[in-house]
Order: sequence, then structure tokens, then C-alpha cells
Amino acid sequence: MTVGFIGEARDSVDDRERGHIDTVIGLAEQFAKLAADHDERAEINVANLDALHDAGLTAAVLPAAVGGEGLSYRAFGAIVRAIAQGDPATATIWAMHTGAGVGLAELTRDGLGSFFADEFLAGRRFANALSEPATGNAFLNPQQDAQPVDGGWTLHGAKRFVSGSEIADYLLVNARVDGEPAYFAVIPDDSVTFVPIWDTLGLRATRSQLVSFDNTLLAADKRGRVPGPTDFAAIPAALPAISLGIADAALAALIAHARGREIAGAPLSHQQWVQHAVADAEIKLTAAHALYDKALREADAHDPAFFPDLNRAKYLANKVAVEVSGLGVRIGGGTGFLKTSPIQRHHRDAQAGQLMAHSTEVLATIIGSDVLGVGVQAR
Ligand SMILES: Cc1cc2nc3c(=O)[nH]c(=O)nc-3n(C[C@H](O)[C@H](O)[C@H](O)COP(=O)(O)OP(=O)(O)OC[C@H]3O[C@@H](n4cnc5c(N)ncnc54)[C@H](O)[C@@H]3O)c2cc1C
Repeated sequence: MTVGFIGEARDSVDDRERGHIDTVIGLAEQFAKLAADHDERAEINVANLDALHDAGLTAAVLPAAVGGEGLSYRAFGAIVRAIAQGDPATATIWAMHTGAGVGLAELTRDGLGSFFADEFLAGRRFANALSEPATGNAFLNPQQDAQPVDGGWTLHGAKRFVSGSEIADYLLVNARVDGEPAYFAVIPDDSVTFVPIWDTLGLRATRSQLVSFDNTLLAADKRGRVPGPTDFAAIPAALPAISLGIADAALAALIAHARGREIAGAPLSHQQWVQHAVADAEIKLTAAHALYDKALREADAHDPAFFPDLNRAKYLANKVAVEVSGLGVRIGGGTGFLKTSPIQRHHRDAQAGQLMAHSTEVLATIIGSDVLGVGVQAR
């Protein structure tokens, strides 16, 4: 486990949070040992999720306003980076579970009080069912209309790429009600089916399936408000960290290979092209971590620059992960191409970060139009 890149974040938080980070660093070392097996079988590592809960991470990440300890963004970012370095599929499911669980606790607080906070603290599993087949990246603007019925509305449609959906006790679902996005908690019943589409190139162990809703009740008493700027933005804060963790693992794997592989009597690490390419990769990765840390510091300081900088941090982290893991494939040669090598897995996993909303193309539109002052919003 490379602690170096998250060292600054680790040093800047209090003892309680540093304790959580150190616990997760230890757990992630164990996660790394089983990541390839679960990737191969496309199987969720439920034991990893249990270990994070048992280590106190659930209470730690729940904001104090809804009954938890309240983790700073800096500590949260360090934790997701550490998990992702060991097993990015676990990091993705945990981030989505956290986003949905914390989200439902915050969004339904005025109606259901502490119900979802209590369920989250008790270790129930949550998943985030927002992306629609027709809207892709625009996951906060659902285009599926819910139909009014007694006690609420019904949803007939689908959400896709819902990480960890098959093991979830609760789904955070959005749909259009009276022309506006509305958010609900759904307890999967017979009207909810999981379509096994997730036979993928990378992040296979997230099992991010298609979820089909056959006139599923969106109960009025389980409707929450729409997310606001003061809610804990777990998923936006986690997405750059997943790519950074993958990039950290990819850099460590290529360094190990370059040191160990001898060509014509000298380690590959002694070749100048390798040194130059590694310098380029390491510098870009350091910059990506620094930009991410800046965005998290702004978030902790309630500085509105947080969201634009987090967009930039995700864009850079996604790109750097693809670049670093691609360099791993070059340095790894045929050996790195083998399934027995972590190099090929890091390269496959790195592709997923740039696909997850908002994708790097959508972010480029948001950031570029902002820089140019043309006021275009990505749809
Ligand atoms: C590993 C993984 C896990 C996920 N987990 C979840 C989850 O738990 N819950 C959930 O709700 N969703 C999840 N998603 C869905 C994800 O967040 C995206 O919403 C979804 O992948 C986008 O749909 P799409 O991949 O079909 O891409 P599309 O949106 O169809 O994009 C296709 C291409 O078009 C580009 N594009 C799309 N819109 C625009 C635009 N406006 N301007 C310019 N270019 C555009 C994209 O950049 C991309 O290159 C997950 C996705 C992945 C890959």
C-alpha cells in the first residue's frame, strides 16, 4: 500500500479521523489480496463491506446533523483513495452505498426523522439507482415520469449500472413528478428485478446491474427533498478518489515490475525511456492528488469553489488513471498482459472512472464553457 499520496491529507486531520484512515489502510492491504479473484468471478466482496462497517466507518461517515460522527471531506477522500488502491470495486460500492444511505438520511429527515440514519447505522445496505437508459450522464434530471396512485406514485422503467444493487436493502431512486426531479427510498419487492448485464471489461466486482421497475410504488411517505449544497456530497467527493486509488496501485505495480524485470543484464528501471515515462506519470499523479486535496479543503471550509474544483479533480484523476495504467501495460510487456498480473486489471479498471457521471467529456464541456465564459451547461 502506497501511503505517500494521501499522507498530507492524513497528517492534516484530527486523531480520531487519522485512526479511521489508518484502519482502512490496514484493511485495504487485505482487500488487495482478493481483488483479482473477485474481479475474475465478477463477484461482490461482501466481507470487505462488512469489515468497513465493523471497523466503525458507517458511524464515522454519517454527518453529525443526522446522528453520526461526521467525517471531514479530507478524511473521507483519504479513506476512499486507500480502499480503491486495494480494491476499487469495493471502493465504488462503498461510495455508492454511502451516498445513498447518507443521502436518504438527510433527504427524508423532515418526514421520517431518524429512520434511514438508524438503518444505515445498523449496517443495512443502500444503493444508488439514478442513471437511466435514456439519459445517461444526466442522472440528476430523470426523464421517467412517475404516475400518481393512492399513497404516492408508481415507476415503470429502469435504472442502470446500479453498483451493489443485488445486495441492497434500500434503493435511492429518482423520477419525474409533476415535471420535477423527485427522490424516493424504495425497498426492493417483486416489482423490482435485477437484469444481469454486468459482464464488463473493468470494475467487474461492482456488479452494477440494470434494475427494472414494474409499476413499483414510490411511496409518498418515503419521498425526500431534492439534494442541496449543504448535504454531504459523498459520491462527487468519492469519484476522483476511486480513479486516484487505481492510479496509485497501477504506479506501484509498474514500479515493482520495472525493478524486477531484467533485460540484457539490467533491470528495466535502468532504461532511460522508462525513467522518463515514470517521471511524467508520477508528476501528473502528484498533481492530480494535490488538486483533489485542494477541492476537499475547500469543501471542509464551505467554500463554493469546491464543486468546480471537484469537477476539475475528477477530470484530471480519470485521465491520469488511464495514462498511468496504460504506461503499466507498456512497461509490463507480455507479462503485464497476463491475467496473473495486476497490471492488466488496473488498466481495465481505470477505464471505468472516466465513464462514471459526469464523464470526462461532459466535465470538459462544463469546465471549458466556464473558462471561456460562454455559460453553456452540459445536459
Ligand atoms: C462502474 C460504474 C458504476 C456505476 N455505478 C452507478 C450507480 O451505482 N448508480 C447509478 O445511478 N449509476 C451508476 N453508473 C452510471 C454512471 O454514473 C453514468 O451515469 C452512466 O454510465 C452514463 O451512461 P452511459 O455510460 O451509457 O454513457 P452515456 O451518457 O450514454 O455517454 C456515452 C458517451 O457520450 C458522452 N456524453 C454523454 N452526454 C454528453 C453530453 N451532454 N455532452 C457531451 N458528451 C456526452 C459521454 O462522455 C460518453 O463518451 C455507473 C457506471 C459505471 C461505469
